[in-house]
Amino acid sequence: MNRLIAPLVALSFMAVEAQAANEIRITPNGSQPSIKGAAQNFTGSVRVDGLFKGESPARIGGGTVTFEPGARTAWHTHPLGQTLIVTAGVGYVQQEGGPRQEIRPGDIVWIPPHTRHWHGATASNAMTHIAIAEAEDGKTVTWAEQVSEAQYVGQ
Ligand code: MN
Repeated sequence: MNRLIAPLVALSFMAVEAQAANEIRITPNGSQPSIKGAAQNFTGSVRVDGLFKGESPARIGGGTVTFEPGARTAWHTHPLGQTLIVTAGVGYVQQEGGPRQEIRPGDIVWIPPHTRHWHGATASNAMTHIAIAEAEDGKTVTWAEQVSEAQYVGQ
């Protein structure tokens, strides 16, 4: 880039950034494509919509996750915990060593920091939840192994 123009471009970029940080920002529906849950982190068919991330110093982030019947996350933990707000269907959440618990629309689930757990749909019904977590050192989740069929059915 031209040596004279480059600093001007850098300045105008900074101006846009500063302005954006102080203004309400709407991410329109349809401006982000639906994405498929990564096969290494999920069993079955999982769709993620509406990913969002706060701007520093905020560290909130999340998205809307839809699990087809039988689909679920792998075992995982969140460094600062996670909140799930169920919006559709019927699903499960389970903490390691605890019972598999049914969750339904309107239920709000708090998963404490560093607690191994999974969440997903029931075998017969899809489930959608909004998932919200704060990042620690830029990280919101630590993934582990998949939830086996025996674990999923609670045996
Ligand atoms: Mn989770």
